[in-house]
Amino acid sequence: MTDQCYSHSLISINEALENIRAALSPIKDEETVNLHQALDRVLARSCIAPFNLPAFPNSSMDGYAFNSADIKNTPFTLEQVGISWAGRPFSGELSAGQCVRIFTGAVIPSGADSVIMQEQIHCSEHAIHFPENVRAKQNIRYIGEDVRQDDCLLAAPKQLSAIDLGLLASAGIYEVRVIRKIRIAFFSTGDELSAIGMPLVAGQIYDSNRYTLTALLNNPCYTITDLGVIRDDKASIHTCLLAAAKSNDVIISTGGASVGDADFIKEILDDIGQVNFWKLAIKPGKPLAFGRIQDCHFFGLPGNPISVIATFQQVVTHALRQLMGLNNNAPLRFKAVCHSQLRKQAGRQEFQRGILSQAENGAFEVISAGKQGSNILSASSRANCYIVLTREQTNVEAGTEVLVEPFSLFL
Ligand code: AMP
Ligand code: MG
Repeated sequence: MTDQCYSHSLISINEALENIRAALSPIKDEETVNLHQALDRVLARSCIAPFNLPAFPNSSMDGYAFNSADIKNTPFTLEQVGISWAGRPFSGELSAGQCVRIFTGAVIPSGADSVIMQEQIHCSEHAIHFPENVRAKQNIRYIGEDVRQDDCLLAAPKQLSAIDLGLLASAGIYEVRVIRKIRIAFFSTGDELSAIGMPLVAGQIYDSNRYTLTALLNNPCYTITDLGVIRDDKASIHTCLLAAAKSNDVIISTGGASVGDADFIKEILDDIGQVNFWKLAIKPGKPLAFGRIQDCHFFGLPGNPISVIATFQQVVTHALRQLMGLNNNAPLRFKAVCHSQLRKQAGRQEFQRGILSQAENGAFEVISAGKQGSNILSASSRANCYIVLTREQTNVEAGTEVLVEPFSLFL
């Protein structure tokens, strides 16, 4: 049977994501963390600015603070009567004909409304000579121009970035309420799997998926439990799933999700829980069971290593973000000219691995990363993007535009 023949019975990734959206409710439980622990956590309560930012008018330049009423005939000369340092304001008040030496971040002295950059003046003793074309009311940072007191500083839900931590700190906020961590357990299934450190006997391979998953789940929003390797044995998988469902929000398994005689995941999920969907029209990663065991969400990922990564990134990540209350789940995708010929049958959406580069004129170019088998880790290890091909697309000729999704912001 060709890919096209059976693909009508598979659901699209968008249908799967819709199904997940309907099945998941965001976690509402909160906890308090401080700024040292808050990076990448999801803000649960909006933060209000306790005071104006900036709290006082200050200079954005090293220069001289003066009153624009003194700009009559240019050039002109003012008398320097003091210094306003950052953190040590000038305590007097400017009178007509006077100016104050000022540094970046220092309070604008009372009586001044403008700052001139020090590069633009000449000084002799305390006489400061201003040039022609002096502009009034320049180089001042005004009270509240960044954020007004009582305005929203950060709106929940939001995954906190380094910039957000700086914003909170500048408002003197050290602790925030965030969504509690998602508890995620995962395991591998397969009689062929051996642990690193053990000698391989005939037919065995090392379990790589749990290491990949450990890395993919390395996120301060998750608490993860590695449940190890479970044999291709119904009773063992059954017991493991029921126990893990009691203390986790999400369980992820790899392997055993397909239709082989040793693939029990779907059958067990049917027995002890609920299957929402099972087969997706994507490549790599067709068998992907999503459902629920008691109050725990379950993802039965395929066994092939590249399928694990692709289904995790294209499906599971969205579900986890949604559990955290985040709705901005569209991955960054854009067009690039593909300089390789790509083989593809119509039927499934494909996430081929590519190597993306940017030409000097800014144009994006991509080539295939090599062999596309879902067991081939080495080619994917050289890749830095997915080449995203629609279900309908067939072979791609070199020189054609394709859609790419970079793995990271660095190529
Ligand atoms: P399965 O989905 O169980 O039929 O597995 C599909 C393929 O992925 C087989 O070649 C398995 O040997 C391989 N595989 C399954 N689990 C793992 C794992 N944890 N690490 C590496 N390869 C795996
Ligand atoms: Mg297996």
